Amino acid sequence: MKLLVIAIVLMASNHYCHGVVVKVWQITDIHLDGYYSSTSGQPQNWCHFDAEDGKALNALGDFNCDSPWPLVSSVIKAMQDIEPNPDFILWTGDSSPHFSKPQPPSMEYVLTVEQRLTDLLTSHFNGSNTQIIPVLGNHDTSPAGNFPDNSTFYKQFRQEGHWDAILPSEGAKVEFQECGYYHFKARGLTFVVLNTNLYYKTKFTETDPCRQLKWLEGVLQDPDLAPRSVILSAHVPPGFFERSSTVAFFTNALHENKINDLYLDVLMRYSDKIMIQLYGHTHTDTFRLYSSNDQVKSIGLIAPSVTPLVTKFGDESTSANPGVRLYTIDLGLGRVMDYHQYYLDLEHNHTTWSLAYTFRNAYGTPDLTIKSLETLFQNMQTNETLFQLYYKHNTLLYDNGPCDGDLCRRAQYCGISDAWLTTR
Ligand SMILES: [Zn+2]
Ligand SMILES: [Zn+2]
Repeated sequence: MKLLVIAIVLMASNHYCHGVVVKVWQITDIHLDGYYSSTSGQPQNWCHFDAEDGKALNALGDFNCDSPWPLVSSVIKAMQDIEPNPDFILWTGDSSPHFSKPQPPSMEYVLTVEQRLTDLLTSHFNGSNTQIIPVLGNHDTSPAGNFPDNSTFYKQFRQEGHWDAILPSEGAKVEFQECGYYHFKARGLTFVVLNTNLYYKTKFTETDPCRQLKWLEGVLQDPDLAPRSVILSAHVPPGFFERSSTVAFFTNALHENKINDLYLDVLMRYSDKIMIQLYGHTHTDTFRLYSSNDQVKSIGLIAPSVTPLVTKFGDESTSANPGVRLYTIDLGLGRVMDYHQYYLDLEHNHTTWSLAYTFRNAYGTPDLTIKSLETLFQNMQTNETLFQLYYKHNTLLYDNGPCDGDLCRRAQYCGISDAWLTTR
């Protein structure tokens, strides 16, 4: 009898070996704006204080503007209430605001924002086994996008931005100092964090700014890496914006830099090692299929922002409800099983965070594998209800008007399925 009990326990534990689940929060594009004024803010000027033309605004944010402090503290509190013990918090950059007049945020402003957010995150997830994984966004420097190829900048950033307190290892700190990229292994996963801001509207003209691609290839060549054990994360994704897919993210002023395709080439060659790619930057909720020779080899997810602002051209704003996302990853199966997408319904003046949808339930897929996302993409093109559901999620249920024209639809399809600059 005793033996039978032991055998059953062993069988059960063996079963659970293939069901070890890791939880990962992703928070991105916070864009904290310390000048937001809820008493007399001017929406056409980032809701900054304006004694004459300002008006009373929602203390939790406005769709024309970046995030006020109450929105930022409310999202961190919501994360703690919903899942206080995640294994990882992936913080995918753009913590500083967009405003550029009269001057863009100074480096001192940027570093103060990094300090405040690092301290806020660590104080709320203090005492748990949570590893925070910070990623640089294009707004995490001054002026935006200004990332040099010199270790003085990155060393100062990690020290004065308080990232030394959260970077996962001494090795990661040394790597980060090179140009803002690093990797580490934990809980059976390898996280590879990149600084793709080096490729975004870049001033670099060489083929491998900061030698990042060479370094990436070296990391992915590690023979000890198990198949589908790498989570690759960066702020700016390769390819195109799905709401206006004419301009690629990775280009220099001369459009001669083919870094986009060189980057994808590396990912395609080591695609068997990569479970998923996780990005921010677009402020929208969408996914990516990366193909080579007409075969999808790797997948990416782009998580929606905390800031309610997507884009602003003159007085025209495209907006999204603020969001934060919780992934469930099955280590035994080596795949993302699901995510819970939370949001603040700012459009209807809600003050508490709630569940917008879960991926599996919303799209009827068993998990987030290449096969599942490929099927979803195919179905979206023939099933109008499914496409409209995806499109509603694209701005986290905020209504920017319908996607009824061919142009809007094609931009979405191309943004999702073709990230290459040259024909493949
Ligand atoms: Zn952003
Ligand atoms: Zn960005």
